[in-house]
Amino acid sequence: MEEKNELKQLRDKLLYQKKNGWDVVDEATEKAIFDYCEGYKVYLDKGKTERTCVEYSVELAKSSGFVELKRGMALAPGMKVYRVNRGRAVNLAVIGSAPLDQGISIVAAHIDSPRLDLKPTPLYEDSDMAFFKTHYYGGIRKYQWVTIPLELRGVVAMKDGSMVNVSVGSQPDDPLFTIDDLLPHLGGEQSKKPLGEAIPAETLNILVGSRPLKGDDSAGRVKLAVLELLYRRYGITEADFISAEIEAVPAFCATDIGFDRSLIGAYGHDDRVCGYAGLKAMLDLNGTPCRTAVCVLADKEEVGSHGVSGMQSHFFDTFVDDLCASQNVPVKTCLEKSFCLSCDVTAAYDPNFAEVYEKNNSAMINQGVGLCKYTGSRGKSGSSDAGAEAVAYVRRLLDDRNVLWQMAEMGKVDQGGGGTVACYIADRNIDTLDAGVPVLSMHAPFETVSKLDCYMTYAACKAIYEG
Ligand code: MN
Ligand code: MN
Repeated sequence: MEEKNELKQLRDKLLYQKKNGWDVVDEATEKAIFDYCEGYKVYLDKGKTERTCVEYSVELAKSSGFVELKRGMALAPGMKVYRVNRGRAVNLAVIGSAPLDQGISIVAAHIDSPRLDLKPTPLYEDSDMAFFKTHYYGGIRKYQWVTIPLELRGVVAMKDGSMVNVSVGSQPDDPLFTIDDLLPHLGGEQSKKPLGEAIPAETLNILVGSRPLKGDDSAGRVKLAVLELLYRRYGITEADFISAEIEAVPAFCATDIGFDRSLIGAYGHDDRVCGYAGLKAMLDLNGTPCRTAVCVLADKEEVGSHGVSGMQSHFFDTFVDDLCASQNVPVKTCLEKSFCLSCDVTAAYDPNFAEVYEKNNSAMINQGVGLCKYTGSRGKSGSSDAGAEAVAYVRRLLDDRNVLWQMAEMGKVDQGGGGTVACYIADRNIDTLDAGVPVLSMHAPFETVSKLDCYMTYAACKAIYEG
């Protein structure tokens, strides 16, 4: 008996033991997990595009006392500010009690997700059916986007400077859209093709109508009927699509998965699951943090973080510059002392596809937030590879607060890989570590995450802000 105890003690002392989080959390935490995820599901349904996600994030922030950051504003400790970047990204901050030359604590996530964008000239008619041509955004597996219900969300920027909001499919009485696929009876040849070639991008055409305009027998009557409906509802013409951003996104809502309701299935977990964690942790901060806390919700990560609303944009630097200017602190002094949790999803180990994972170094469902020292592909290409000191800092921070975490890599070394915004933040002389929620079926129209992992990522973000 004593010998057994000794062995157990030795094991506990020496081994890095991974545990299912449900065996570890107490009843109060269990309740907090489920409560937290109710708010997250609303966030997902409201924010299926980067623009609608920014709108809802700002709404939540305002109701927690955040005000728009104006250049030259006096900023006292405890003040809560935000700034929207062109409707597609937003930065928020809670001013800390310590001066900005002590650095800031950042959580950065992205709120764009893979989807189908409408082409600039999308509408056409073929065989008395009207379709929208699409151009996919981000890394999608095209075969997953056919024969599912789709909704349209976006904006049309009119020449007179006004903006028209387009949303069809989010309300209960709205019609939906879909992309058709071959029937198995005629799909023999298609089925022989590799998965990546079976559905060419130019066949991802969204069915939007089939009823011709009455009293007209010329060609293009179905297309004209669709345009007529759009003009009546939105006042837009075919040419106005040229200056529009309309996204086709899955029409299903976020929902509990499993008999035990331990998981959430939804569109856009990548990376709103971390965006919400970073935002909610900031809204829930008790009192004034020591260091200034900054939450970054960036756009364009799925296409390389380029562009004016992506993480490579100087929008971030300008934001920090404006904070620093209020205290006459040089930005470089602030940045070199700062820390960032680059909060983005990682691949959850999937026993159905075990061959692409290396189990010892994979993120497991229900084992908490996944920390990634590096991302990238092959020889860590495209990764910022955090310093060992940065990893130790986060280990201590999370362990001190009983936040469940696990160390993770994304798949086998030769299998592939992926990047995050981490390298663009680290490039700015900021210590940065990747961390995020493990996801099953990442980038699919319907992705799955564990509620416990969502909550632990929120708790990790809070730990970063509180320092
Ligand atoms: Mn991501
Ligand atoms: Mn992604």
